[in-house]
Amino acid sequence: MAKCVYCKGDVSDERTMQICDRCGSSVWGHKMFQTILQGTNSEKEKGNMELGKVGENTDAGDIQNLHKRIKDASCTSRMQKAA
Ligand SMILES: [Zn+2]
Repeated sequence: MAKCVYCKGDVSDERTMQICDRCGSSVWGHKMFQTILQGTNSEKEKGNMELGKVGENTDAGDIQNLHKRIKDASCTSRMQKAA
């Protein structure tokens, strides 16, 4: 089982992004988060997330943007409690 990068909660190994439903929904909203998950997971299924490719493209920037966004999210206080 993978861990959420924010709250260290459990995340399915099948998920490309290591972000749990709670944190993801706090940042993007539940519906948008599900759409993002579907997009990233289908990329993985297509084989675009091969070893070596991960991190070369948009991943690093996306994660940095994510950190910025999650700081503003209501999820922050809950994450601090969990940490
Ligand atoms: Zn989380």
